[in-house]
Amino acid sequence: MQEQAIAWRSAGDEIGVVPTMGALHAGHDSLIARGRRDNRRVIVTVFVNPAQFGPNEEFEKYPRPFEDDLARLEGLGVDAVFHPPVDQIYPPAFRTRVDPGPLGDVLEGTSRPGHFAGVLTVVLKLFNLTQPKRAYFGQKDFQQVVLVRQMVRDFGLPVRIVAVPTVREQDGLAMSSRNVYLDPAQRQIAPVVHQALAVAAAAFTNGETEPARLEELTRQRLATAQALAIDYLSVVDQTTLGRPERAIPGSVLAVAVKLGPIRLIDNVVLGAERL
Ligand code: AMP
Repeated sequence: MQEQAIAWRSAGDEIGVVPTMGALHAGHDSLIARGRRDNRRVIVTVFVNPAQFGPNEEFEKYPRPFEDDLARLEGLGVDAVFHPPVDQIYPPAFRTRVDPGPLGDVLEGTSRPGHFAGVLTVVLKLFNLTQPKRAYFGQKDFQQVVLVRQMVRDFGLPVRIVAVPTVREQDGLAMSSRNVYLDPAQRQIAPVVHQALAVAAAAFTNGETEPARLEELTRQRLATAQALAIDYLSVVDQTTLGRPERAIPGSVLAVAVKLGPIRLIDNVVLGAERL
């Protein structure tokens, strides 16, 4: 992959990369479409990264419908699909890990220790293998965008990180490869997460800037679904992930909930379309 990518760059072609774990859906399509608009070449990586799964997470069970993914990607006109085996990314002699620093320990990091070290390590390697001018990440995984941007700044990586708005089902549920695990009853409840965030976003638009109040409005709406347990719910600054004294346009209300064994995450950027 790297030789092909270097050849494209040498010929003056800008490359956009879309890192995915496969099980592709319309959310991924949206990243790819944006990549095609901005770049001469688009590489999609399909790699279920063992380093970002915790011991109790579903690495083995993660869906891998690769033939379907390939058919889908053919229809989207990408220039290359990079689908490496695990030992190409992590050969036996592999040792180094990217330390995400303090931003990796909050929000998702609290429930998923080591997750962002795994994410940043593979993202850094994928960037080196695909030589992108731009890389596309979904806003749904907002903390991932923040951490990748931090790494790019800290290490001076020559790549621009583009955050793409979350693509949703008609009822508002953020699309996710993991939604297939929801049983019909859970699937019916799941859209409340987006609805609860929308309540707070509307309150912000109407002048409410107190983080605790915005969180409380969200909590109240989530409480209408008894099967659902809040993991975290917080208004945060989109660069530092700290809780601001007052929410401002661009502050993010981020939430993770558990619905039975399934964890759902979602967020809304207050007073703005995107990160
Ligand atoms: P994944 O395959 O779940 O690791 O996701 C690959 C990329 O697609 C990540 O940057 C995700 O944030 C992004 N993504 C996942 N779901 C969505 C969605 N519903 N809308 C937009 N982007 C998404």
